[in-house]
Parts: sequence; C-alpha cells; structure tokens
Amino acid sequence: MQAEASFIIRNARVLTMDDANPRASAVALAGNRILAVGPEAEIDAFSGPDTHVIDAKGGTVLPGFNEAHMHIFGGSAELRELSLAGVKGFDALAKALRDYAAEYPDRALLIAQHADYTVLSDDERVTRHHLDRILPDRAVLIFAPDHHTAWANTLALKGGGILEGRDVGIGNEIVMGDDGLATGELRESNAIRPVSALGETGGREMLGVGTGGDPEHVTDEERAGDIAILKEGLAYVASLGITSLQNMDGSLYQLEMLEEIEKTVGLPVRVRMPFHMKNFMPLSDLETKAAAWRARFDTDRLRSDFVKLFMDGVTESGTAVFVDDYAHQPGWKGEPLFTQEQFDTIAIAADKLGLPVAVHAIGDGAVRMVLNGYEAAIKANGKRDSRNRIEHIEVVHPDDIPRFKELGTVASMQPTHPPGSAGLPLEPYLSYIGEERWPYAFAWRTLVDAGAPIVFATDWPVSPLDPMHSIECAMSRTVWKDGLKDERLSLHETLAAYTRTGAWVEFMEDRKGMLKKGYLADVVVLSADIEATDVTALATVRPVTTICDGRITYQA
Ligand SMILES: [Zn+2]
Repeated sequence: MQAEASFIIRNARVLTMDDANPRASAVALAGNRILAVGPEAEIDAFSGPDTHVIDAKGGTVLPGFNEAHMHIFGGSAELRELSLAGVKGFDALAKALRDYAAEYPDRALLIAQHADYTVLSDDERVTRHHLDRILPDRAVLIFAPDHHTAWANTLALKGGGILEGRDVGIGNEIVMGDDGLATGELRESNAIRPVSALGETGGREMLGVGTGGDPEHVTDEERAGDIAILKEGLAYVASLGITSLQNMDGSLYQLEMLEEIEKTVGLPVRVRMPFHMKNFMPLSDLETKAAAWRARFDTDRLRSDFVKLFMDGVTESGTAVFVDDYAHQPGWKGEPLFTQEQFDTIAIAADKLGLPVAVHAIGDGAVRMVLNGYEAAIKANGKRDSRNRIEHIEVVHPDDIPRFKELGTVASMQPTHPPGSAGLPLEPYLSYIGEERWPYAFAWRTLVDAGAPIVFATDWPVSPLDPMHSIECAMSRTVWKDGLKDERLSLHETLAAYTRTGAWVEFMEDRKGMLKKGYLADVVVLSADIEATDVTALATVRPVTTICDGRITYQA
C-alpha cells in the first residue's frame, strides 16, 4: 500500500533546487513532509480519496522562498502607513501628506515611509520647515527608505521633547540648525524614537532594531493590537510565496507574541529571530539571553539561535564606515558602533557558545572589522562550521574579497538596494562613495566568483518584500558606467540564494530549501514558467499557492 498524499501538485515545472534530481513535473505532500517528487505518472499513484490536487497549469513550482533578512514587526506596522515611494518634489509631497492626514484625522502622529533623500530635489534636504508648510497642525514623521534617517516637523519634535536637541549617543544624531533648534533631520534610531513613540504602536515595532529590548509598559490592549499587526504582516509575507523568514532584529517581546500566534492559530511562515546585541550590553547577555532564547525557542517554526549586531549605519547619512574617506567629505570615514577589540571579544564569545553571528556592515571599513572579528574567533577557538554572516556589504575593499571564502563568511545581500535599482535614485549615493569604489559596490557576482556563499533578501520594509521583484533586480542590474563589471547572477544562482542557501545558513539544509522526499512541505506554485519568462517580466509572475508546513498559507 502506497501512502496517501494530502496534496498533489501536478502539471508543474518543478525546480527542486536538489542537484541530484533537479527537475520534475509533480510533487506529493503528506502531512508536513514531502512524500515524493517526480514524473506525474509516478506521483499520481499517491492519490487517494482525500488528496487535494493542485493543477499548476505549467507554472514553476519551487521550495518556498527564504527571505534571509527582514524586519517582521516594523514591516507589518508599515502596511498601515503612507508610502512615499515615487513621490518627487514639494507639491507632490504636500499632496500625499495632506491626503493622508485627511484620511486619518485621529492619528496622533502621521508616519510616512520611503521618502527618498532627494524627495524635494537633488540638492535640497527636507527640514521641519518644509513639513510645517505642509501640515503645521499635525505631527508628521517621514522616513527615508533605509529607515536610518527620518524627518519630523516642529510639532512632532516638540511632542518628542527634542526640538532643543538631546544627546542620543554615538552614531545617532538630532541634526541641529544655526538657530539652536533641531532642523528636523533625525539620524538613527535613538534620535528617531522619541518622535516615533508618539505613534499608534508607540514605536514598539522599532525597539527590536533600536534597543534590542522590550517595551516598558504595554497594556493588554496594546499587546493585542501588536499581535493583530503581526498577523497581518505574516499573512502578507505568505502571500508572496515566502515560507521562511529570517528576522534581523530581535526582542523577547516579539518572540513571545510570535509564540502566542503559533500556539493559537499557527504561524503561516517559519520565523528565525536573533538576539540583538547592542554596544551597551554586557558580554554575559550572550549566555543569559541569546543562549537561553536558543534553548527556549527551538522548533522548526519558531527559533532564536543567532546574534545580530550593527557595525555601522548607512552611507547617505554619513554613518557607514569606510576604509578611506567619503568622496564628498574629506577627513570623514564614519565611526563604528563597536571598537575592533569589543567586536572581537563578542565574536569569540558567541563562537564559543556555538551562536552564529550576523552583522550589519555597509561600508568597506565596517565589513573589514567584521571579517577581522570572525578571524579572531577562528584563532581563539579553532575553525568550526559557524556560518557567520555579513549583512548588506554595500562596499567591500578588494583586499577583503577572498577573505569571505577563507573564513567561511556568508554574504547576505539585497538585490533591491543598489542605487538605480528598484526605482532608487543614483544620488547622493554614487557621489558619496566616489567612482573609485564603484567596482566594489553591491558586487554580488564578484563575491560569488570568489567563493562566498550568498543569500538574498529585501530587508523589508526597507525595500518591497516581493521575492520575484528582487530576483528580477538581481538578474537585471545595470552598470553605473561603461567598463564596470557585470554583477548580474543567473536565474538558478539567484533562486539558490532565495531557497537552498538560506536553509543552509539556518543549519536546516537537511530538511528545507529543496523539494526532496522527507523534506518539510514548504512549496510555492507560481503563475508562469519562470525559465521561459523574460527577465524584465519576472516581477509580473505571481505566487498562486503558498504551502508552509503542509498547510495552504496563501491562495491567489
Ligand atoms: Zn535590516
């Protein structure tokens, strides 16, 4: 007697991501596992009276996408906020904000996202005065796409108690004007939080990134509201064919809410969440928090088993750290959030506890410091299979490229982030890093060719979450000037960075990331055959069905 399938997906172009059996036309699932992958005739034999048959209509079927770097709480909250993507010029900004204000007359703080640094014009930055002219009587906070910079109007600055400025710590800044008052530009989370705390969620969605800590006072009602926001976000994630997400901020508050969702209705997406180590935390937190969370949250659906840190900020606000000076600002290289010695100590201690590390490093100076720390851990503890990673790697120094392979460091990159991609402006980014560094910016082909394992993601809500859009960006990247190396990847390299390698980074390559007998039943059915789709049309291909852990989590 053959086992009976709970689902059979047939008439499909299955890309299994399993090199031993790369293609098939059908997949059978039973419970939360894959029963068989093969030709239709073979798979149909698993059909029984209770089998649910899905006709893929010739579309591609893949292992569910693994989004290797995102922020679930922040992203979920933003689904309720205004997006300024594509808005350009004062008049367009004014109209968008005024319409939004009219739509939500009761919101204490109007939050908008995705305002380019050049939203007004190429050479004029937003100040509180611009926003005051648009909405003098409502508190307004607008974020740059990278979320590292925001701009507030006078009412919002007053409400947050920071109109006269305040010391917000290294790497954070309330930009002050000649008049002794804040200009409205707020750099990094310590500067932004006093204002964002006035919003609907009290800014709680930003705490995982900002402090790694938990909110001090949360009423039952507020917590229920936060859970509702998370559920909306998780459903949205599943609607894009994603079955695994690796969160890049962490807090116990978020883990416990996710655990509650898992216990009540079930998580529609597998979640991996880190312990977020900030530079003011004692080293002992690695043991008492990170390792303790690992023991407590250790299922295939919700786990906390790594450490996240930020080494620098972002290029546009001058907080990214470079080996050499910024091209537009001689004498300034940026200031790291940890000293080399501090980071080495953390990298060694985490490694000793068997905790993988993921570090945000945008500038080549920050990337180098992180590689140095990983090297120090190998020297101190011996080489182990650590799967440590670096997030973003917007610029890498040529001398450091071979070190990724040597140290076994994973490159975690975002195809939607290069200036000129996904509608992002070229400036001020390209002038800030300067032409000499262009060949080493967003150099994913270069890193892959040098033997670095690579995973892709969007850093949602920094850029749109849709994996198909991101895959198109990875494959259609254009050069900034003639003669620069073509950094595009092939479809199969890109898909691997969205599936199989993501599972490997999570130490779960023995059960997910491929469509293979016995593996977890995480599958996405797409609306078309992506191998027969022109690269420029990949983003039009939509998920039709998402299955996670043997359960349909999205149906178009
Ligand atoms: Zn991030």
